[in-house]
Amino acid sequence: MMVYLTLLAALTSFQSPSSAAPPPSPPAAAAVAIRAGTLIDGTGAAPVKNAVILVQGDRITAVGTNVQVPAGATVIDLSGATVLPGFIDAHVHLASRTLGDGDWQHAGLTEMPSQLALLGAAHAQQTLEAGFTTVRVVGTAHFGDVALRNAINAGWIPGPRIVAAGISFGIRGGHCDETNGLQPEVFEHEGGIETGVADGVDEVRNAVRYVVKYGADVIKICATGGVLSLTDSAGVQQYTEDEMRAIVETATQLDRRVAAHAHGTAGIKAAVRAGVTSIEHGSVLDAEAVALMKQKGTWLVPTLLAGFTVESLATAGRLPPPIAAKALALAPRVRNSFKMAVDAGVKIALGTDAGVMRHGTNAREFGLMVRYGGMTPMQAIVAGTSSGATLLGLERDIGAIAVGKRADIVAVTGDPLQNIQVLEHVDFVMKDGRVFKRDGQVLGRSVAGVP
Ligand SMILES: [Zn+2]
Repeated sequence: MMVYLTLLAALTSFQSPSSAAPPPSPPAAAAVAIRAGTLIDGTGAAPVKNAVILVQGDRITAVGTNVQVPAGATVIDLSGATVLPGFIDAHVHLASRTLGDGDWQHAGLTEMPSQLALLGAAHAQQTLEAGFTTVRVVGTAHFGDVALRNAINAGWIPGPRIVAAGISFGIRGGHCDETNGLQPEVFEHEGGIETGVADGVDEVRNAVRYVVKYGADVIKICATGGVLSLTDSAGVQQYTEDEMRAIVETATQLDRRVAAHAHGTAGIKAAVRAGVTSIEHGSVLDAEAVALMKQKGTWLVPTLLAGFTVESLATAGRLPPPIAAKALALAPRVRNSFKMAVDAGVKIALGTDAGVMRHGTNAREFGLMVRYGGMTPMQAIVAGTSSGATLLGLERDIGAIAVGKRADIVAVTGDPLQNIQVLEHVDFVMKDGRVFKRDGQVLGRSVAGVP
C-alpha cells in the first residue's frame, strides 16, 4: 500500500501545473461538413431535405439548409441517405455471454471476469457498428461495464458511450442474486453486494454507496422476480417499498438515478411510488400502474426484443423448463402493457436487454415498438434518440442533431418513416466527431495511439 501511495504522490507532483510550462493549445481541428439527403434530427420535428451539418472536433457547430460549407472543410456526402442522431439503447448487458451462447448459464462460474470483459469489448464494437453510440449497461458482474466504459473513454477500444450500473442488486434469492439456482455449498459463505445481494434498509443504503464507490453512474435494482433466474417467480414483488425508498433516497444524495427491473404489477407500483426513474420491462401493467407512472413522470423501458427473443427460444425448446414457462406466460402480457403505456402517454425510452438477443441487432426494437405499441416510426425514433438522452440525464450533449451537441451521427439508406426496419442496416457511424463506419464498411482502426 505504501508503495502505491508513494507512486501516486510522484504522479501527482509530475502532473502539477506549477512544475511545467503551459501546454501549447492544440491546433483547431478542420471542419467536417456532412451533406444529409434527409435529416431526422431526433426531436420529433419533421424531416428536412438537403441539410448540411458542420462538425468541429467532437461537436456540431451548425445545422440547416442554408449552412455554407467552409473552404477547406472535409465533405462527407450522405446526400443519398437519411441522417439521424446516434441511437441510444437504455438497457443492455455487454460483459457476459449472450443467451444461448455456449454454457451461458454457468459462464460466471467457469470463465474469468477479465475474459468476459474482453467479450464485452467485442459486444461493444458490434453495438457501435449498429449505430448505437450510447448505451446504459444495467447490471454486470465484477464491474465489467465500468472497465469497458473507462477503456472506451480512454480510446483503447472502439465502443459506444457507456452509462454503467456496475453490479445490479436485489434480495437474497431474487433475480439480481448472481448465485440464484446454485447449490449452497458452491460458496463457503452466502454472498453480499459483490454477488448482487442486499437485504433490508441498512444493507441497501450500503449497496448504493458500494456501487457508486466503484464507479456506477446509475443504480440498477431488481424490484420483482425475473425470467432468466431459476428459482424465483417472475411476477412477485421482491424489494419492499421501504427498501426501495431507501435506495432512491441514498442514490439521490449521491446524484445517481435508479432503474428498477420490474415485471409484476405490485412491484412496479411500489417502485414507482418509491421514486425510481425508470421501470425496466414493465411487463404486467394495469390502469392504476399506468396512471401512477404518468403522475410521477416515471420512464418505461419496455425491452420488447428481450420478450420476443425468450418467447422464440422457449417455443423452440431451447430454454430450461422453469425459465421457458415464465417466458411464455409473460410474453402476451408484455405486448398488452406496452400498448397501454403508449396510449396513456407514459414517457418511453428504447431499451433492448441486448445480451438476451445478439448484440448489434438492437435496432429491431424500433420495429417492435411500432408493431406492438402502435407507435409511429417517428415516435419510435424519438424513443431511441432524444428520449433516451433525457432518461440518461445526457440531453444537453446527445440525442439530437443540433448546435452544441456531440457529433454522434448515423445514416441509413431509405426512409425509416416509411419502413422503420431500414434502421437495422446502418451505413455510417460517427461518434464524438470520429467516423467508425462509412459506406457500410467498418473503418480499420490503428492502435498506434494507444499508450
Ligand atoms: Zn436486463
